[in-house]
Amino acid sequence: MNEPVILVVDDDPQVLSAIRRDLRSRYREDYRVLAASSGDAALTAVRELKSRGDALAMVISDQRMPSMLGVDVLAKVREIYPIARRLLLTAYSDIEAAIRAINEAHLDHYLQKPWDPPEERLFPAIDDLLSSWQAEYRPELAGLRLIGYQWSPRSHEIKDFLASNLIPYRWLDVDRDPDAPGFLGAIGVDADELPVLVLENGAVVRNLTIGSVAECMGLRTAAAHDLYDLIIIGAGPAGLAAAVYGASEGMRTLLLDGHGPGGQAGASSRIENYLGFPSGVSGSELTRRAVAQAQRLGAEILTPVVVAGLSCDAGYKRIALADGRELVSRAVITATGMTYRELTAEGVADYLGAGVYYGAAMTEAQSCRGCRVFVIGGGNSAGQSAVYLSRFAREVCVVVRREDLKPTMSHYLIQQLAALPNVRILPCRVPERLEGQGRLQRVWLKSLVDDSVSQEDVDALFVFIGTRPHSDWLPPSILRNPKGFVLTGRDAAIAEAFPRIWKESREPMPLETSLPGVFAAGDLRAGAMNRVASAVAEGAMAVRLVSDYLART
Ligand SMILES: Cc1cc2nc3c(=O)[nH]c(=O)nc-3n(C[C@H](O)[C@H](O)[C@H](O)COP(=O)(O)OP(=O)(O)OC[C@H]3O[C@@H](n4cnc5c(N)ncnc54)[C@H](O)[C@@H]3O)c2cc1C
Repeated sequence: MNEPVILVVDDDPQVLSAIRRDLRSRYREDYRVLAASSGDAALTAVRELKSRGDALAMVISDQRMPSMLGVDVLAKVREIYPIARRLLLTAYSDIEAAIRAINEAHLDHYLQKPWDPPEERLFPAIDDLLSSWQAEYRPELAGLRLIGYQWSPRSHEIKDFLASNLIPYRWLDVDRDPDAPGFLGAIGVDADELPVLVLENGAVVRNLTIGSVAECMGLRTAAAHDLYDLIIIGAGPAGLAAAVYGASEGMRTLLLDGHGPGGQAGASSRIENYLGFPSGVSGSELTRRAVAQAQRLGAEILTPVVVAGLSCDAGYKRIALADGRELVSRAVITATGMTYRELTAEGVADYLGAGVYYGAAMTEAQSCRGCRVFVIGGGNSAGQSAVYLSRFAREVCVVVRREDLKPTMSHYLIQQLAALPNVRILPCRVPERLEGQGRLQRVWLKSLVDDSVSQEDVDALFVFIGTRPHSDWLPPSILRNPKGFVLTGRDAAIAEAFPRIWKESREPMPLETSLPGVFAAGDLRAGAMNRVASAVAEGAMAVRLVSDYLART
């Protein structure tokens, strides 16, 4: 297969040749750099690439061109290559338009002319975008392949696991992918053995479980040391930040996650309010960077490792793993976050992974091409997922209990949804019953206004409602509020049971739980702000407090 393409579009021959020259000087080993002198020529080139099955990694287009504006070229390219990275080249006077275009047309970045020296003003941005494209791109024929049925819960579980552990794979749906039947015959796999994984070296792995896949992928699940300064449980934004800061402070730091790194944020298609990413950043990209940063600084990361209990023995914290092993640390940060509440509609359990998904919009979006999908919930996570799904699905219906989205969703997302022609908001409704043959096909929605019930055809339904903290595994000595969120600092100290539990002469520190030396950060904590930035801040702050705690013991 040909190398992926970087396409540059500019009507000014001098600028076109300068940027092409600079890009070639740095990327020609891995990418073909093509040039087009107008929007029309660019779109013709893009359609040709598509018809040949070539990969398009990035398009860089000048904004001011006579026949078509750069943002329009980039918007059209997105319809053909949804994950190609899109950059606008602007003059200083057009920067405001470029920033507007980031919001309206979901551009990835803008570059200001001139870009000299390219080492400082061009290549860092392009490097970043190409590496995030590489992480999302699934080559047609190479690499890891997962073959199965779209509506199979086990296929969904494995897809979700690979995605959350940032393992690129190509998904082949035996019912829809024309290559799949021939490929199955060639590798000698029967349809009733699906799903199977085909490794890069051609080996076929059957009877897939999370454990067997983790082993095949070489994920580390065994700790390197007997004793740690700091063990962090949960590798969402709070845990990842704690790992970065713990390791950078020189603590022997271990980070554990029961699924894969990223947590809820890892499921986000585009985080637009995290400082330093003006065009937004996907959760998987933020996670990829954070994992690399934590590891570079010396943190050890183990996934999938589920923590089942915690106890304290002469100041040492003993962490019981679900598989029976135990780890020991001088201090602990628990950052196990939260998850969605279960949908109570009749029939939900029958279609889990077969049309009903909790979160997981990123994992299943590409499989929803041409489908009619429902998003249940009116919060930001629901809004963001609806925007993302609208790129693939024929129609996205957002079902909300309230009359409108304003009380629960950020303004920018409400505006984005309103601008999408294939998104419908269905207010004052709840799903009452689900039905289908072997997969979800119909949903009955009940009106909260007059109790009437309507039946809708549906291919997939994504649930984003309510919050449930991951705190069941904690010992009773870690006090929680009635909803199960962990009390820390002053909130713990004023709880009724606190005097019976806390035997220190000092008060708990701000993020410390009612068990000395065990800290909580992020969404798990009572009073948390439920944002990526606040989770990251608490992870960092918890490390500072851990260091004070360790200095005292
Ligand atoms: C789809 C979506 C979009 C969002 N978009 C935005 C946004 O744009 N901007 C924004 O600011 N916020 C956004 N949020 C909210 C934000 O992602 C969360 O506030 C943030 O992820 C909380 O981080 P955390 O580290 O506290 O917990 P989490 O992200 O919940 O991570 C907890 C981790 O702990 C692990 N874990 C749980 N129990 C155990 C156990 N027993 N053993 C081992 N590991 C365990 C889980 O597997 C998980 O990885 C979004 C959330 C969602 C779901």
